[in-house]
Amino acid sequence: MQGRIHSIESCGTVDGPGLRCVVFFQGCSLRCRYCHNPDTWVINGGQKVAASAIIKKITRFQPYFNHHGGVTLSGGEPLLQPEFAAQILRECKKQGIHTAVDTSGWVDLPALEKTLPYTDLLLLDIKALDHKMYRWLTGKEADKFLTALGVIKEHQTPLWLRYVVLPGINDTPEYISKLKQLISSLGSMVQKVELLPYHPLGVHKWQKLGLNYTLGQLKPPADSAIDLLYQKLQQNRTVISA
Ligand code: SF4
Repeated sequence: MQGRIHSIESCGTVDGPGLRCVVFFQGCSLRCRYCHNPDTWVINGGQKVAASAIIKKITRFQPYFNHHGGVTLSGGEPLLQPEFAAQILRECKKQGIHTAVDTSGWVDLPALEKTLPYTDLLLLDIKALDHKMYRWLTGKEADKFLTALGVIKEHQTPLWLRYVVLPGINDTPEYISKLKQLISSLGSMVQKVELLPYHPLGVHKWQKLGLNYTLGQLKPPADSAIDLLYQKLQQNRTVISA
């Protein structure tokens, strides 16, 4: 089984618990305005590799994972190549490696059904909980994400929820209240909530690709503003990675 990846990071510390081997998949259906990795969007870019080669690489790092670490499939959107992702996850689980998948949740249901049984933790990006905002932010309709959320609930997969805070755009009381409602509806599945302050980190990649970056005027939120949002959500602040 072969698939397309963008890159592999052997010592990630922010995409899941402990020390992690992070496999960045190539391809994404969304076009988030703040995307840090537009170079992962095109599905036929990156490099073609065998799942077995990736598994071999991951197992080489196994001694460093200890109890907490493991593998994280990220992207791009890893669930855009579900068979390839499932094979890596299944084999890692067989070898006792903790598995995490970093996904937008804007994915087909069969992709979830194939991968969730082998996923210990989902890092789920909440792009928006409002249809209009979802469309504006990602270029796609929210329905697919909302349907997928139902399946994720059925599986009761442990979650780290991630929400990129765009000051003045998605941090209003209305949006934060919707986020709070979602968190409480997911109950004990939610292990952590991460508010990621907007940062124009990938803007040079947009320019290099000749793409129009539309958030150029937006400033990252103040640290105190993020603290306040955590208070409103009644969640503990966690290590922020973006
Ligand atoms: S889902 Fe992730 S990779 Fe895809 S466009 Fe959005 S931020 Fe970029």
